Amino acid sequence: MSYLTLKDINKIYPNGYHAVHNFNLEIDRGEFIVFVGPSGCGKSTTLRMIAGLEDISNGEFLINGVRANEMGPREREVAMVFQSYALYPQMTVFDNIAFGLTLQGVDEEVIEEKVKKTAAILGLTDYLDRLPRALSGGQRQRVAIGRAIIRRVGVFLMDEPLSNLDAKQRVTMRSEIAQIHRETGATTIYVTHDQTEAMTLADRIVVMKDGYVQQVGTPYDLYHNPVNVFVAGFIGEPPMNFIRAAVKGGKIPFGSNTLDVAARLGERAKEYEGREIVFGFRPEAIELGQAAGAYHVTAGVELTEMLGDNTNVYITAGEDKAILKVDPHDTPEIDSEIVFSIPFGEVYLFDGETENIIAREPVQSVK
Ligand code: ADP
Repeated sequence: MSYLTLKDINKIYPNGYHAVHNFNLEIDRGEFIVFVGPSGCGKSTTLRMIAGLEDISNGEFLINGVRANEMGPREREVAMVFQSYALYPQMTVFDNIAFGLTLQGVDEEVIEEKVKKTAAILGLTDYLDRLPRALSGGQRQRVAIGRAIIRRVGVFLMDEPLSNLDAKQRVTMRSEIAQIHRETGATTIYVTHDQTEAMTLADRIVVMKDGYVQQVGTPYDLYHNPVNVFVAGFIGEPPMNFIRAAVKGGKIPFGSNTLDVAARLGERAKEYEGREIVFGFRPEAIELGQAAGAYHVTAGVELTEMLGDNTNVYITAGEDKAILKVDPHDTPEIDSEIVFSIPFGEVYLFDGETENIIAREPVQSVK
């Protein structure tokens, strides 16, 4: 049996706004689940329903198979870390971390031992006597996490916990959160709009858009086997390139190039004749020059961005635009004309209307 079950969960706010539609998910003990999607897609609302801070309008939330819709936050054994640290400014780091246990009237010796253990996990041992104002943003966030993990609850809920940190602190804290998860093994549900955070932290990612779950899968699966244009464009940086065109004689135009997509469409080629499809390929999945087993595209170089380990090349072909990720040694001249290859196995075709995937050379799933 799964640890947590969300069954057809819906949220309709009192003003009538339907923020979450039929959310279904089974979560195992110890999993690190990330809800990701653009701002306003219903991530926090779902998290707050799990926390017991928001009523579930429709559907069922189960903990160990037992209905939990009516349980209060404490009974659910969840702890939440918010984006604002909400530390008590007049209390030391020690007292901030200990606060929940002190309230519960836990024995002082036990508190001391637990705070020290928690502080050690979080690298806060040398800061226990400090006040929050004498800490960096990252350290404050660690205290907030410490306050949550000291309670040894069943589930940690984190809502954009890194969004108040600067870029460098975010990267450090991200790996620390991964480390804390490895050490505590605690079931974690983490909300972010940042696909990099989702990809690096999650065992499984839930991609949401407009209140609907788009896809649930491992980072590997979402990257290699996206179910629709939205997921394909959301996961990956720079995002997947999309060329939208109607199929004519089994072919589509890409600038002045003609790409024969009939073989990719296979049996469905007839069905798509005259209809619009979206041709997708990732910036990193190309080769410069004319490779075998690939589409060849001639395009103009509009801009290049040297990033050190690679170069992003912005190309145009007629009205179509795309980004290519190339080896820095192969960086082409701006305004030059280049030919690049898109291997057939790296092509994604989506239905132009539903935007769902229609064709993809199969990629084997790995754990
Ligand atoms: P996310 O966390 O993905 O940014 P939220 O779950 O916070 O999104 O919000 C989802 C949608 O629900 C948004 O359109 C938001 O404006 C709306 N919403 C959030 N809280 C309320 C509320 N109390 N009443 C009405 N609508 C709300």
